[in-house]
Amino acid sequence: MDSRARNRTTAERDVDSVLHPYTNLIRHQEVGPLVITHGKGVKVFDEAGRDYFEGLAGLWCTSLGWGEERLVEAAAAQMRKLPFYHLFSHKTHDPAVELCERLLAMAPVPMSKVFLAGSGSEANDTALKLIRYRAHALGQPNKIKVIARDKAYHGVTVATAALTGLPNNHRSFGLPVDEVIRAACPHHYRFARPDESEEAYSSRLATELEAQILKEGPDTVAAFFAEPVMGAGGVIVPPAGYFPKIQAVLDKYDVLLVADEVICGFGRTGKMFGTETFGIRPDMMTLAKGLSSGYAPISALMVNQRVYGPVAEESGRIGVFGHGYTYGGHPVSAAVAVETLKIYAERDILAQVNAVAPVLQDGLAAFRGHPLVGETRGVGLIGAVELVADKASKAPFDAALGIGARVVAKAQAHGVILRAMGDTVAFAPPLIISAEEIRDLLRRFGQALDEAHGEIT
Ligand code: PLP
Repeated sequence: MDSRARNRTTAERDVDSVLHPYTNLIRHQEVGPLVITHGKGVKVFDEAGRDYFEGLAGLWCTSLGWGEERLVEAAAAQMRKLPFYHLFSHKTHDPAVELCERLLAMAPVPMSKVFLAGSGSEANDTALKLIRYRAHALGQPNKIKVIARDKAYHGVTVATAALTGLPNNHRSFGLPVDEVIRAACPHHYRFARPDESEEAYSSRLATELEAQILKEGPDTVAAFFAEPVMGAGGVIVPPAGYFPKIQAVLDKYDVLLVADEVICGFGRTGKMFGTETFGIRPDMMTLAKGLSSGYAPISALMVNQRVYGPVAEESGRIGVFGHGYTYGGHPVSAAVAVETLKIYAERDILAQVNAVAPVLQDGLAAFRGHPLVGETRGVGLIGAVELVADKASKAPFDAALGIGARVVAKAQAHGVILRAMGDTVAFAPPLIISAEEIRDLLRRFGQALDEAHGEIT
């Protein structure tokens, strides 16, 4: 660091040097960043020493909270022993093998093999490529169309951004390059007909999906991607009966189901995987975030034999499975992930989640009476509060008011970091959070809601 840099604050240097993801870049030059220096438990601290509840576990990932020394040690030990090796061309190392074995043993349905990558986007991108490779292997090169839902979030690479069904991931990027078939977002509160039960709504969505597959031609439709609970789209919990009904349609037309467990995996919904919570039988599962508690970048794609068999055959025919990332299965990340999975098992993370989940869910539900709140929803330790201008008609606020962002900014002033997706505020705290911490977090959120309400009335 030269002396000029030493005299300037981190915030000033940030504004001059960092291109920020998911940020209004022009506004950033005016408001600058919040500089986070360290974390402990479910809290992070800024450079002025102020502490914040991390109500979204960072980016839905830091399940074990901050300061978990066992993960630090696992990384350090692996760094010393083998800081890098790869899995290309018949090479392997112990952390990768142990991780894949553990994941296969945990899988909620029989899975055959695990592919390791560095991010959720890469895992979903790999799923897309396997779908295409398999189709060629099976002599069905036209069966490569994929279905994803409105408001889905599956990543931001050129290919996975097409799966993602949120306008700001397409706008001005000239995306999607390849259209995907866009199925309905299963949000009962917003999109069900008046008096339509959850089951009836789910049946209608399954019928609509069948009509879409028939319109496209079943021999051209390869796979359906779904997050068990849609995260970045606004924490949409599927309506009763949804996945079994959707799965029946997919089975009928030989369409693979890819469960994107990047957020839901590893206990977030109260079971180890969202697929278990909602009765899904996936052919592929993508995992990231909680896989290493966010301590190291790593993701995994699990595939069943139905997928692996033809893919393996095809690679034998061609001579290579021509896909892989330099950092896929990175030994340090894999070692951290193995240690994370051990901690989940030893500390019975599911028992912990289920013990405190009612405190979060009941606490969120208690906001239903608030004048700004249209719906609260959630399961396990993921939830959301949707703000509306008119409770009876469910009319949203004028977007220019930025009510979601306003509430989140106020919550931050009260020491809680949350995330607004439009006018929905999401909650996904570290899984280790205590009942008392949840109550404190929600109390502060309530103050933020009241203040925002006071401002607009
Ligand atoms: N899938 C889901 C459900 C996600 O929530 C995310 C990220 O938030 C991704 C995929 C993409 O993961 P990454 O940001 O690691 O590429």
